[in-house]
Amino acid sequence: MSGINARPGDIPHSKPSFGEREVQAVVAALRSGQWSGGPRVSELESLLAGRAGVAHAIGVGSGLGALRLALLGLGVEPGDHVLVPAYSCVALPNAVLACRAKPIPVDVTRGSWSISPEKAQEACAAFQPKAIIVVNMFGLPAPMNGFEGNGLFVIEDCAHAFGVRADHRHCGARGDAAIMSFHATKLLAAGEGGAVLTDSETLAHSVRNFREYANKPPHGNRLNDKMTDLAAALALCQLERLDEMIAERRRLARRYTECLGPVAAQTGAFLLPEWRPGHIWYRYVLELTQRSAAGVVESMREQGILTVKPVEDWRGLGDPPCPVADRAYDRIVSLPIYPSLTEEAQTRVIAGLEQACTRRGLR
Ligand SMILES: *Cc1c(COP(=O)(O)O)cnc(C)c1O
Repeated sequence: MSGINARPGDIPHSKPSFGEREVQAVVAALRSGQWSGGPRVSELESLLAGRAGVAHAIGVGSGLGALRLALLGLGVEPGDHVLVPAYSCVALPNAVLACRAKPIPVDVTRGSWSISPEKAQEACAAFQPKAIIVVNMFGLPAPMNGFEGNGLFVIEDCAHAFGVRADHRHCGARGDAAIMSFHATKLLAAGEGGAVLTDSETLAHSVRNFREYANKPPHGNRLNDKMTDLAAALALCQLERLDEMIAERRRLARRYTECLGPVAAQTGAFLLPEWRPGHIWYRYVLELTQRSAAGVVESMREQGILTVKPVEDWRGLGDPPCPVADRAYDRIVSLPIYPSLTEEAQTRVIAGLEQACTRRGLR
């Protein structure tokens, strides 16, 4: 997904944004000799909690680990049902399965591509789930109303959107727990890493307890979910430049929308993402109208531009039908967007897409 097969000169699909600040911070963490269990993880935790306005943040080794520990800490047990968006990262069902619970895919809403509140209501009646994971998909804060009640725990997945407010609440503070990922391609990149955010003392205690196995009795859920201080050093720098990065992403998204609007109108080949308040444009995705995304990815690659199908379908045969997710998996293509994308590179992406839509007979 991060352009592993990139050739020299290719425009990568994603790329971490960093400068001398990150380099110095990692060197300082190295020189300190405290590579794990040091002060940088705690500093990151208090800044994350402060930014979201929650009582606790707990740094962990990955986003998947954060989801798993949040589910466990909320009391998800073997055999429980957990609702997850049918169009989402496979890390979600993996975290549910790791708790020996059953992930129930729920269809998403066209346009926002996040879990549909109406479909989630139906699934609540049918499956009596213990929890639901709501993803702020592609950087757009998801609607969070109407999930609470019936003992259903809500986890807000902030891997794609953090640092903004929606419905008068900060992202990261809109459920019983929130999770973050600091994987190299995410909004805040630190190589690997994650965090659980919550107001609940009990949940925070449980996550802290289970991320660490040293000097504790054997337990199948103690899988070493600790974050390193090297990753925390990077994440701290990324958090410091978050507002700047969001502003840059919005600027790039505006330019895509301005330049691609006429191409969409002329060719009818794709729909632009809607401009909605709070969107931080972690991804800029197009919905193709007449052809599957794979063809466009291929013809862009021939031009040295790496676009991707942003998520791969993980659902099984017995899963409930989800027509919007089916369409999303088939038709959504993600364009390069990151603060270090130059104007020249963005111009190449726009021209490449125009060519892919006309020459390749997308009409
Ligand atoms: C990447 C991602 C995760 C998992 O994070 P990792 O750090 O890769 O384990 C979870 N949720 C979403 C929405 C993601 O994009």
